[in-house]
Formats: sequence, C-alpha cells, structure tokens
Amino acid sequence: IKQDKICIVGSGLIGRSFAMLFAASGYQVYLYDIQLAQVTDALDNIRIQLLNLEGMGLLRGTLTVDQQHSCIKGASDLGEAIKGAWFVLECVPERLDLKTVVYKSIDPLLEPNAILGSSASALVPSLLSKDLKNRNRFIVVHPTNPPFYAPLVELVPAPWTDADVLPAIKSLCTEIGQAPVVLNKEIDGFVLNRIQYAIIGECWNLVKAGVMSSEDVDKVMSEGLGRRYAFMGPLETAYLNADGWLSYKDRYAEMMERVTSNFEPFPKIEGPTLQKIHDEFARKIPLDQLDARREWRDARLAQLSKLKKEM
Ligand code: NAD
Repeated sequence: IKQDKICIVGSGLIGRSFAMLFAASGYQVYLYDIQLAQVTDALDNIRIQLLNLEGMGLLRGTLTVDQQHSCIKGASDLGEAIKGAWFVLECVPERLDLKTVVYKSIDPLLEPNAILGSSASALVPSLLSKDLKNRNRFIVVHPTNPPFYAPLVELVPAPWTDADVLPAIKSLCTEIGQAPVVLNKEIDGFVLNRIQYAIIGECWNLVKAGVMSSEDVDKVMSEGLGRRYAFMGPLETAYLNADGWLSYKDRYAEMMERVTSNFEPFPKIEGPTLQKIHDEFARKIPLDQLDARREWRDARLAQLSKLKKEM
C-alpha cells in the first residue's frame, strides 16, 4: 500500500472504475462527487465488483479485496479530496460547460506540480484546459469501457502541457495494468472514437442500402473482423495477409481504392434507418433486458481478458 494520493472527481461508471484500478496498485484514492449518494453507491458497488473479479481469478495486484477497498475513501469536500493529491482525475459527464465549471473549482486547489487529468471521450484538451491557471499540468486520459476488461487508455496532452506530464501518466497507466497509447497531436474524437465512428457509419450505410440486416452486419464484426482484432490491429493484419505492406499494396491497393471510392459519407443518424436498426435489436434485446445483456457481454469480456492474460 502506497502513500501517494490520487483524487477522482465524479464517481459514476468511469470514476469508480479508475478508483478500483488505482487501488489495486495500492494508491490512496479519494473519490468525490457532487452527489454524495453517488460516492456511497460507488463504494458499495466497488466491493461487489472486487469480489466478482476475485471469483473469476481476475483481481489485479497483490492486495486482498479488503485491502484494495480500504484504499478508496469517499470525500464530501472537494478541498479535502484534492489536498495532497499528486494526480486529480476528472470523470464528470462529457459536456464542455460542465467540465469547465468543475475545473474552475479544482484549479485553485491543486497542489504545486500536481497533474489534472480528464477522462473525456472526445473533447480535445486545448478546449478543456485553455482558461486554467494550471493548464500546463493538464492531460486527457481516455479509458475504454469497461476499463477492467478493455485496458486501452488514450493519452492526449494539450499543446501547452509540460513535458513531464505525459511520461508520468503513461507509467502510472502501465503500472496499474492498462495499455496506454499516445496522441502526438490532439484531434476531435481522439483515435478510438474516430475509428469506431468510421465502422458505425459504414455498418449503418450497408443496412440503409438494404445489403444486410443489422444482425448480420454485427456478425461480420463479432464472427469475423472482431475476432482478428482482439489480438492484433488492422495494419498488422494486412501486413500478415500479404508478405508485408509493400506486397499488400501490390495485391490489394487497387481493390481497396475501387471499393472505397463509392463509400457514402457519414450518415445522418435519423429517419427510417434509425427506426429499422433500433427495431431489429429491440426484437432480440427488449429495452427492459439491457442489464442482463450487459452482464452477458462483461462475462465474455472477462473470459477474453483471462485468456489474453494466460497467453
Ligand atoms: P456517469 O454519468 O456515469 O458519471 C458522472 C458522475 O459525475 C456522476 O456520478 C455525477 O454525479 C458526477 N458529477 C456531475 N457533475 C459533477 C460535478 N460538478 N462535480 C463532481 N461530480 C459531478 O458518466 P461516465 O460514464 O462515468 O463518464 C464520465 C466521463 O468519462 C465522460 O467524459 C465520458 O465521456 C468519459 N468516458 C465514458 C465512457 C463510458 O463508456 N461510459 C468511456 C470512456 C470515457
């Protein structure tokens, strides 16, 4: 158990996941939320999640469930939560106005040289931090949900972020068992969501054009591309599909360019296609059964994490 203190502001889905990840490495985590009930709920929920992980043999680190849980403390006062913390991680909803207001209260309370992170999914760090006194200590730390089973974290410094901030947060992420990647320059949506939206856009356009049902388009990922991509990305996959990229170019570049030349632009998410896609899934997973389906998904992601850990 370490003495280093980390403060998390916003104890929803992502805040509580980060709290667990830091606690598993023995950090002293202070969890703050505007709604005190959220913190109490987070502490109860974290215990259940830790016990589940232990049951599946996926508890991280060397500390017991009780030790990890005791590393996380609820705080009802922001000043108390931030005092002495070397890292403050904001995890409030993805709204620029809300995040800006939250930073206004955090900024004057930060310890000298402390780092302020944001779990923002798409908002660029220059926009988030431009008015802060401590904007040189700001970095985006974008996790993937659910962080315990999908360890990718995108790190996005602002143009004015001090040079020591990125390596410090990168080594923290690695230490807690996550897989950090770095954006050398900021771009709206970062990389994960840009790739995700490119995929969703093409899936949507194929359903709209009547080429496939929603269910079958999803199967192309879950039974095809997704299977490959669980172990290596598309660029390496292509490299292996020929004898390296130079040979991939000779064999496939013309086909890739021909096929993509008739791609439609990203669609408007509205109209009959919206209803059609919604209805196709609602028949299979009624809206009152979403939690059961989420549990089903998380259990499989847990098994995949276990497999990858053993390999
Ligand atoms: P959430 O709604 O589950 O939790 C947000 C928490 O912030 C709530 O507990 C809320 O009470 C609290 N909050 C609101 N205003 C506050 C304030 N002024 N001060 C302190 N706390 C306040 O949201 P989430 O899904 O945990 O998302 C948090 C951030 O993480 C967002 O920027 C989101 O885009 C990003 N993110 C989410 C996911 C995901 O899949 N949910 C994945 C990666 C990143």
